[in-house]
Amino acid sequence: MIISEDNNEKIINKNQNLAPKKQDFDMSYERNIRPKNFKDYIGQESLKKTLKISIEASKKRSLPLDHLLLYGPPGLGKTTLATIIANEMNVEIKITSAPSLERPRDIIGILMGLKGGEILFIDEIHRLSKVAEEILYPAMEDFYIDLTTGKSQTVKTMRVPVPKFTLIGATTKAGALSGPLRDRFGIIHRLEFYKDEELKEVILRSAKILDIQINDEAALEIAKRSRLTPRIANRLVKRASDWALVKHNGVITLDVAKEALDGLNIDNLGLDNTDRELLNVIAQKYKGGPVGIETLAVAIGEDVATVEDVYEPYLIQSGLLERTLRGRKITNNGLKHIGIKQNNNQMSLF
Ligand code: ADP
Repeated sequence: MIISEDNNEKIINKNQNLAPKKQDFDMSYERNIRPKNFKDYIGQESLKKTLKISIEASKKRSLPLDHLLLYGPPGLGKTTLATIIANEMNVEIKITSAPSLERPRDIIGILMGLKGGEILFIDEIHRLSKVAEEILYPAMEDFYIDLTTGKSQTVKTMRVPVPKFTLIGATTKAGALSGPLRDRFGIIHRLEFYKDEELKEVILRSAKILDIQINDEAALEIAKRSRLTPRIANRLVKRASDWALVKHNGVITLDVAKEALDGLNIDNLGLDNTDRELLNVIAQKYKGGPVGIETLAVAIGEDVATVEDVYEPYLIQSGLLERTLRGRKITNNGLKHIGIKQNNNQMSLF
């Protein structure tokens, strides 16, 4: 499988001629630890099972896999899964994201450049422009695009075939996809948050590849503070490894892991300063809520999309925050976690 290093920031090192920056260093780490086959892709068992059947069936029919939509919070493994599918199908994958397909020629160029059977992966597909979507519809359904040439009276439309391909779309917001686009995906799957034990496995696997010494207890401690998300687990094990190297003998033991994570202000549930600030703002400034998402985002100095995609899903999943029709509310567990108790609608510190 070849990953076409289009314009995907997760994968490409765009500064190949420059001295490596820290970000580039982290990206090459990321490339090394990204699982390349189903065996190394930990968890998501029922999703893997159904995907393996779809892959097997399409191989037996000698046809490309049906278009596939993967949705779920960031860092759960959507891009990784797309590259594994390409590997299993033995085809190339082109990776791009919706914001870089703004102009018609961007999407037309990428579709015309595909070879038969290839996979096109579009990240953040809910952000596709209307015009890009409309070009994509016939390409997905009947494998052609309509090209227009000329101006006003002399405008001509030409129907051009595109090779049979599989579109894999990834989104954090399945609900934000337009109906017609969603309907054109033959397979739609949600990725689940990971269990602590699964994240422990992710951490031990990455540590082995990166030559980081860590014991089981420490791996579980990092897993528990990783917001149920492999990308965060991998990031924290790297930070803990830096800590172990600078402050100790390089080995991540349970004590070293706790010390490193406390030093990063990551608490026992994996919340960072922004999560706690978000909960505190709802509890104290808005008396527990409900408070609208826009107001909340302004109050903590983040944009709405970041609050919705990055912070909220885990806080809701952990039972600390509730989403109601009238806005966000902190739960009793949320109050307890930040050390606030509620008496007759009054908030006070524990
Ligand atoms: P998404 O596309 O959903 O934002 P990615 O596919 O980029 O997430 O995954 C982020 C990182 O987490 C990857 O680099 C990979 O190393 C790791 N990862 C994700 N899912 C798994 C998994 N199931 N098993 C092992 N590592 C995983």
